Amino acid sequence: MQGRFANVIVDISHEKVDRPFAYRIPEKLSGMLEPGMRVRIPFGRGNGLRTGYVIEVTDEAEFDESRLKEIAGIQEDGIQVEGRLIRLAFWMKEHYGSTMINALKTVLPVRQKMKAQEKKEICLRVGREEARGEMLACERKHQTAKARVLRELIAEERLPMGLVAKKLNISPATFKSLRDAGLISVNTVPYYRNPVKLDAAREAGHQLSVNQRRIVDEVLSDYDGGRRRTYLLRGITGSGKTEVYMALIEGVVARGQQAIMLIPEIALTYQTVLRFYKRFGDRVSVMNSTLSAGEKYDQCERARKKEIDVIIGPRSALFTPFPQVGLIIIDEEHEGSYKSETMPKYHARETAEELARLHHASVFLGSATPSLDSYYRAKQGIYRLFTLEERLTGGTLPTVYVEDLREELKSGNRSIFSRRLTRLLEDRFARGEQSMLFLNRRGYAGFVSCRMCGHVMKCPHCDVSLSEHRDGTLVCHYCGYVQKAVRLCPECGSKYVGGFRAGTEQIEEQLLEKYPDRKVLRMDADTTRKKESYEKILSAFAAGEADVLVGTQMIVKGHDFPNVTLMGILAADMSLGVCDHRAGERTFQLLTQAAGRAGRGNRPGEVVIQTYQPEHYSIVHAAAQDYEGFYEEEILYRSLLAYPPVAHILVVQVGAPTREGAEQTARSMRDLAGEVPEGSYVIGPAPASIEKINDVFRYALYIKSPDYGLLTGLKDRMERYLKGQGEADGRVAFDFDPMSPY
Ligand code: ADP
Ligand code: ZN
Ligand code: ZN
Repeated sequence: MQGRFANVIVDISHEKVDRPFAYRIPEKLSGMLEPGMRVRIPFGRGNGLRTGYVIEVTDEAEFDESRLKEIAGIQEDGIQVEGRLIRLAFWMKEHYGSTMINALKTVLPVRQKMKAQEKKEICLRVGREEARGEMLACERKHQTAKARVLRELIAEERLPMGLVAKKLNISPATFKSLRDAGLISVNTVPYYRNPVKLDAAREAGHQLSVNQRRIVDEVLSDYDGGRRRTYLLRGITGSGKTEVYMALIEGVVARGQQAIMLIPEIALTYQTVLRFYKRFGDRVSVMNSTLSAGEKYDQCERARKKEIDVIIGPRSALFTPFPQVGLIIIDEEHEGSYKSETMPKYHARETAEELARLHHASVFLGSATPSLDSYYRAKQGIYRLFTLEERLTGGTLPTVYVEDLREELKSGNRSIFSRRLTRLLEDRFARGEQSMLFLNRRGYAGFVSCRMCGHVMKCPHCDVSLSEHRDGTLVCHYCGYVQKAVRLCPECGSKYVGGFRAGTEQIEEQLLEKYPDRKVLRMDADTTRKKESYEKILSAFAAGEADVLVGTQMIVKGHDFPNVTLMGILAADMSLGVCDHRAGERTFQLLTQAAGRAGRGNRPGEVVIQTYQPEHYSIVHAAAQDYEGFYEEEILYRSLLAYPPVAHILVVQVGAPTREGAEQTARSMRDLAGEVPEGSYVIGPAPASIEKINDVFRYALYIKSPDYGLLTGLKDRMERYLKGQGEADGRVAFDFDPMSPY
């Protein structure tokens, strides 16, 4: 990398990255330095040589050039854990847009101010035979406390002092006198908190099925042959994906490497952790948002010291400082939560692939409904595709009914429940079986449709739905198109035009009104605010404490309730209305997942999908549980409109205290983008979907191109411009291939 100056951090820790030191690069090192490299630098007044990490190489000196010291040399001692993380941060900064400092803060663990906790250990300083003699002597002298300690140490040479003191009721004076007599030593050893507080016997895995075996064998033989790639496993829930993950992890651990297992935070339940614990014992640990900073730090230390081989956690677990990662697994790889919402707005899948490149590791993705992005790559041969088609736990696939809500309205049924759903629900009550009712809350934000004919108000220029602003006007968030409020449906002339406004709470109320002696549990953002309430509701429902569980997205994520034989999806269209290109995909995934909830036991399940658009391909294919069919139609739509994965989108997000400020900055970004080659487009700027949040006005500029490099180039140009401006007139953020509209 060319450049005359390097920014170096001396003490690589989260708090210190804000203070990099600038150095001049001497002629002899010119072009040799890269982020992540360790260098020797003169430091402090005495100019003693110290080790630092290069975090940036630049051509602009931010300080008086003549006063800069020179880098003394490169420290050649192989790649360090930190060096790799710094390289990864550099890649994230380049690939997603952000400052180097923010990128570093994302990948480096927070170092607790307090030191690692410590515990004291006692151990024998003499041989067992001698100790036995001393023990007998103590007993003769009625020094029973001393004798008790010695007896324990003869059985087990090394013991935690606290435990011995408590269990055997030993005073500090006793320990002291044993130590003074030269019989024991007391050592202080660092002690790392382990968030996994389980005590379960180890269990070997299942004998793999032929199909599972084939997958595991291929991946591991690639591994042994030095071939690294990304694999994608599409397999319905219960088809044995997790069992495959565990066999793969065992494989790489047996080869002396470590594994990172990403799962969506919401799926990181007691059951999941227990399953991994039974397989890997305390060589596995978890990382999630409920851990304290100290606990998180300790998991990093355990990883660094190779005290654990496997970490399970949400996307941030990628940055666990393992010395030698062999495998990164991403379960439920289609989940939106794998994309970060703060700068750098990285996607865990792409970042995992980059991390794997740095470690020479493999990446393994799994899902019942893979993201279009991954499946597209698999179809192109970039990823190796595997499929598992059968449920190992037996049980047939559920029967799915699609109920047309327009018909319900025509025949005078204005309630939230279609006639079929009502009939099936009452049937379950009579049989003592359980039901789940799922309401998709996403896309609540004001898409407008006709309840008579299902027509959705769309932008004439963009083929995304318009959204309703508070004054009733309809706005397109892709191009800024505005139209007046509609009172009559332009398609059929009915007056039933508006947004769908029902929440989980209303549904619970209506159920209880209609069936006062039934028990209903509700799970949504309101009822799960407390840390444990999520698990509590689930276990209450599993224990049969309610007939119906009403909830949002949360209830459709992989829980097993054998007694649930009916799943009602109340308004399947809700996410279709959202004005973004992933709406169809998200709807298909949610419906497929939701349908998979019914009939997990040995009784067959039924699923009712209520919708205003029964002919929509997302709904048709979800009802048929036909992923391939959905993929073919969806990818056609993406290619026609140049949406990811066929092309890439860069959203330049602008926030400013005034509307004019936001608009102006957005316009200068537009000007910087200039002319783009054919096949690439610049759209906007337009006001964001929520124009103002916390008194910040928001604008967005969209740039589409099949060439990712073109987009990062434009991003770099804008970043340089903004740096020169001191970012005075508005904050700018970059989002590549966004998961949701800005
Ligand atoms: P998924 O992750 O695809 O939902 P799992 O790996 O959890 O699937 O497997 C579903 C169920 O089948 C689990 O109860 C698991 O213990 C069991 N299972 C998985 N593989 C096998 C196998 N080879 N033989 C027997 N049972 C298996
Ligand atoms: Zn209509
Ligand atoms: Zn538009």
